[in-house]
Amino acid sequence: MQERHDAPLAPLTTFRLGGPATRLVTATTDAEVIEVVREADATGTPLLVIGGGSNLVIGDKGFDGTALVIATKGFELTGTHLELAAGEVWTDAVARTVRAGLAGIECLAGIPGSAGATPIQNVGAYGQEVSSTITEVIAYDRHSGATVTLTNDDCAFSYRHSRFKEDPARYVVLRVRFDLEDANGLSAPVKYAETARTLGVEPGDRVPLTQARETVLKLRAGKGMVLDPDDHDTWSAGSFFTNPILTAAQFAEFHARVKQHLGEDAVPPAYPAGDGHTKTSAAWLIDKAGFTKGYGTGPARISTKHTLALTNRGAATTEDLLALAREVVTGVRDTFGITLVNEPVTVGVSL
Ligand SMILES: Cc1cc2nc3c(=O)[nH]c(=O)nc-3n(C[C@H](O)[C@H](O)[C@H](O)COP(=O)(O)OP(=O)(O)OC[C@H]3O[C@@H](n4cnc5c(N)ncnc54)[C@H](O)[C@@H]3O)c2cc1C
Repeated sequence: MQERHDAPLAPLTTFRLGGPATRLVTATTDAEVIEVVREADATGTPLLVIGGGSNLVIGDKGFDGTALVIATKGFELTGTHLELAAGEVWTDAVARTVRAGLAGIECLAGIPGSAGATPIQNVGAYGQEVSSTITEVIAYDRHSGATVTLTNDDCAFSYRHSRFKEDPARYVVLRVRFDLEDANGLSAPVKYAETARTLGVEPGDRVPLTQARETVLKLRAGKGMVLDPDDHDTWSAGSFFTNPILTAAQFAEFHARVKQHLGEDAVPPAYPAGDGHTKTSAAWLIDKAGFTKGYGTGPARISTKHTLALTNRGAATTEDLLALAREVVTGVRDTFGITLVNEPVTVGVSL
């Protein structure tokens, strides 16, 4: 176990933002993780769990408490059953399952961060979400002080949400179990229209696994959604806002605002989201409210490749980033009457 004091957190985040932690501990075994969490809880010390730091906005003042980096390793594949230690690098684990000829997470290639964080916001992209393949999550329960096994149902997964996000101070994820599919080297049915179009197939078709993974990686790279230290468009947390989910009445009101601003024929993106709800696109809202790719003149700007990513151009502070985020939220609300919600977790700050 490594321990440092007054340690900078910015290098541990993909934004490269945030002040120091009073204490920074790196744990490489489950026992070490549990020891650090127990000690923090017994002494009433605030705890910040960090995986790959790719969904974190840490305040410039840093974190007064124990920041725990989970660096555990473990990739166990038995038939179609996969168990990953929380500290495994997610995108490497995806590549290994594709090499092993198993389907189910191939379209989640290129998503930065750790395996243990994937259940937190039910990581998803290009038509797949981890909630479709996770069977169990092994976690340390800070309420009971015991290691518990949560079933898929227990995790209460929904769009970019879960029981873990709902109750962030309760569970520390130690291991995640998946059940993948052996489809003779083929992918899961391709669900996402853009992926199907690029692959030249119909939605619902299967394609060779490697082709699915490589196509997603190519599409993601074109949007600045694959980490590249030399490309400031990727000094981000990926999507900064979630896609709004609206009731029928809210959608009707929104559509009226769209017509008012963009003309009678304007139609906003709309996808069924269950229970009569409709999901619209945060990227579209941001763009149509006037915040186009590359927007901004300061050290925090919108990515030049995707309107949904707010980025650090190199010299930004967290306050610069939040000022830009607030400007976008206000602009979208004033134009369309919708309040965007941030996807990354904020630490010591809020929008
Ligand atoms: C370029 C880019 C592209 C992205 N694309 C996508 C995408 O397509 N889809 C998507 O869903 N997300 C995407 N993201 C967001 C991010 O990669 C995911 O949310 C990822 O799962 C975060 O993992 P992490 O290990 O970096 O978590 P961190 O940022 O370290 O932590 C995020 C939250 O999870 C908590 N946490 C982390 N590990 C644990 C654990 N073991 N137990 C309990 N809590 C834990 C932290 O305390 C924090 O609250 C993207 C980010 C970037 C930078």
